[in-house]
Amino acid sequence: MFENLQDKLNKAFKTLKGQGRITEINVAATVKEVRRALTDADVNYKVAKDITDRIRDKALDRKVLISVEPGQLFVKIVQEELTELMGGEAQQINTKGDPAVILISGLQGSGKTTFSGKLAAHLKKQGRGVLLIADDIYRPAAIDQLKVLGEQVGVDVYSEPDNKDAVSIARNGIDHARKTGKKIVIVDTAGRLAVDEAMMQEIEAVKKAINPAETLFVVDSMTGQDAVNTAKTFNDRLNFDGVVLTKLDGDSRGGAALSIKTVVNKPIKFISTGEKMEALDVFYPDRMASRILGMGDVISLVERAQQAFDEDEAKRINAKMRKNQFDFDDFLSQLQQIKKMGNVKDLLGMIPGMGKMIKDLDIDNDSFKPIEAIISSMTPKERGRPEIIDGSRKKRIAAGSGTSITQVNNLLKQFDEMRKMMKKMNTMQASGKLNKLMK
Ligand code: GDP
Repeated sequence: MFENLQDKLNKAFKTLKGQGRITEINVAATVKEVRRALTDADVNYKVAKDITDRIRDKALDRKVLISVEPGQLFVKIVQEELTELMGGEAQQINTKGDPAVILISGLQGSGKTTFSGKLAAHLKKQGRGVLLIADDIYRPAAIDQLKVLGEQVGVDVYSEPDNKDAVSIARNGIDHARKTGKKIVIVDTAGRLAVDEAMMQEIEAVKKAINPAETLFVVDSMTGQDAVNTAKTFNDRLNFDGVVLTKLDGDSRGGAALSIKTVVNKPIKFISTGEKMEALDVFYPDRMASRILGMGDVISLVERAQQAFDEDEAKRINAKMRKNQFDFDDFLSQLQQIKKMGNVKDLLGMIPGMGKMIKDLDIDNDSFKPIEAIISSMTPKERGRPEIIDGSRKKRIAAGSGTSITQVNNLLKQFDEMRKMMKKMNTMQASGKLNKLMK
């Protein structure tokens, strides 16, 4: 995420690294570089100028703190200012009402329908009864798309394919939610072009009629400055409550994430980082600032893990690890849970320093495919006791999985090393050494 910006900011900070102290001269040079990095990332010029002016003033103001290295101090100031720029505190969505109605707006293709499905899954996990309403009267395919997503996440979808009145569909859907005891209703509207006056009037009418607790505007972050302009147009008409930035897994430059709050004065509430239903994060300005500065975002990583991992399964596997009984079936199960957490490259990028290291590597979820194929080609007995896999079994497994004997050997070797490591940790734990080491 935002690799280019990250690179340029790091280069800018280099000017200050190794300098004994902050002076007007070295700060001016660094600030100029930071400003250029921001405008190159498609941050609105005025926004970039204002924030860099503040960064400069703060840096000069705090130069007395000589116990901190200037480079570090400067990065800290930039982190604080970027956090502030993106809204400071994380903002929750309003789910008051019975049912609470959430209206989803945005341009066609921005990722509205995908986000509606994700939000339904997110709220359902919190134990709320959710209903999705397909309120697109123009594209029958959009209704089908929402139905597929609804089925995937286990949330009912209300639709009236023959009704051509968006207001009445939304009203009827909300009635249906009341009757079926649903507490939250998500209304996915038709994707419109901002210039399409008739469609803009329609969504205004829908909003007026259903009086949503929360109106969200979904926007594709890859569209840079346009994203900010569209947000402005929609906000003038709808006065929405929050923004959802999508496609942050692509090579979006970051301008939208950094400018929207200032230009539209509405907070970003969610970010979407992939097509899968799990690829949704609540937006935390401070965590995003850390990610932009290459400091990683371990907190979000842990939260994703908590959502994706099945607790009972984790306990079962943990018990097997402790008894040195971890086998290929357990390995496969773990792999599948990790995949549920979303795009692997994106996940690795949340580890401090990792984003930069892997930015040119080609890692995706398909990288797991050969491993899964190899394990699937093993017999249950082989998965439980890999030590029985001899030359002829290896040959059979390689042929069955469409891989080579070398790949099978590599996996077996890695698996063996992993088991040895677990064994070592178990013995250390038994002797109390592990605790000492952890401390
Ligand atoms: P809508 O027209 O606004 O409802 O947009 P859709 O939800 O149909 O999304 C348009 C396309 O973008 C689809 O192919 C989605 O799979 C894709 N998409 C949506 N959100 C994301 C995201 O966060 N990352 C990526 N890479 N693709 C996304």
